[in-house]
Amino acid sequence: MSRIILHIDMNSYFASVEQQANPFLRGKPIGITGKRSERSIIATASKEAKKLGVKTAMSTWQALRICPQLILVAGDAEKYAEITHRFNKLFFEFTHLVEPFSVDESFLDITDQAKDWFGAVCLAQQLRERLKEECGEYITASIGIASNKLLAKLSSECVKPNGITLTRDEDAIARLDSMKLDDLCGIGPRMRDRLFDLGITTFKLLREFPIEQLVDEFDSYGYWLHEAAHGREISEVTSEEEDPKSIGHSYTLPKDTLDTVLMQRYLLGMCEKVAWRMRRDGFVANALSIVIRYGDFSGAGKQLVFKESTADGFRLFQIAWRLVEMIRDTSKPVRLLGISASHLSHGTAPTSLFKKEQKNLSVLSALDKIQTRYGSDAWTRASLLPIVFQERASGLGYDHEM
Ligand SMILES: [Mg+2]
Repeated sequence: MSRIILHIDMNSYFASVEQQANPFLRGKPIGITGKRSERSIIATASKEAKKLGVKTAMSTWQALRICPQLILVAGDAEKYAEITHRFNKLFFEFTHLVEPFSVDESFLDITDQAKDWFGAVCLAQQLRERLKEECGEYITASIGIASNKLLAKLSSECVKPNGITLTRDEDAIARLDSMKLDDLCGIGPRMRDRLFDLGITTFKLLREFPIEQLVDEFDSYGYWLHEAAHGREISEVTSEEEDPKSIGHSYTLPKDTLDTVLMQRYLLGMCEKVAWRMRRDGFVANALSIVIRYGDFSGAGKQLVFKESTADGFRLFQIAWRLVEMIRDTSKPVRLLGISASHLSHGTAPTSLFKKEQKNLSVLSALDKIQTRYGSDAWTRASLLPIVFQERASGLGYDHEM
């Protein structure tokens, strides 16, 4: 079923909050700078300042030359965080699927509440009214509505300030073609330059570019670019308040391989990462699925449900490898491996009756203390060491959480 997603983007956020808080600043060109020690850059310009040519990330020196009447205000991160908390709380009145994306942007999934595009526009209008009541009339938002996050975000860019823009699926291509490549969240200046070097300067050219070549050039990100140019994106709005349905990880190998030892090492690394995230958030799993993608873009997947819940990386690895062996086509080089632990529940894994496993579990809790403090790269099983080295040396691996 198609979703209905809102992207809500506060306009000139820090400046609007300051204007709301201080009537003296309203209607005037103001620029928010860093704290006293780092006042050299404009973090946000008010809409009045933007009209006079002041831009975000401009040096204050340059901004003052363009606009001598500019009022500089030292930023107050705590104040902004407090308002951010307030509007996200308001969004939860509309749907429980709220995903804060940055301090001034959030995604909302309103499929069940809105039912259709007309309902979505009505809901967006109500939301804007409530925002005014809750945060004040100087804090305005631009709202994008579409069937996925990518298009919703692109749409909110269209009318600023205080606009509501709807992009239906049948208008997605036209919307993309009216925008520049780097308007898309996910294409930064460096990526844009690399695309330009390939002769790709518009979404149309990106759509027509052979996917195989994109993948050669950018690895997994190439798939994403190809899909994005068609207005397609699969990532869901995930609310932090809600329990995740699954915790997963996938990895594109530096090069396609038939080497089972190499595959095992990567798989073990992913299982450790997933297991650590489960333990960190207090989950155990009763199912594990794996995905294999081959060099020729074909793929396969399989899930196993098991009785004894676990949050141990090595146990997950044993299950994962069994699944790999069940479905892998051994004649085809593997390009990507992914795992996902699901059937999650809160709790800790039952203590094993066996001495050896008990020892394992107590080691795990000690390791978790280290990871909680220093992050998941702080330790690694000895069998993973050569891989970690290879990842860093080649810089080719594409590693991401799901
Ligand atoms: Mg904004």
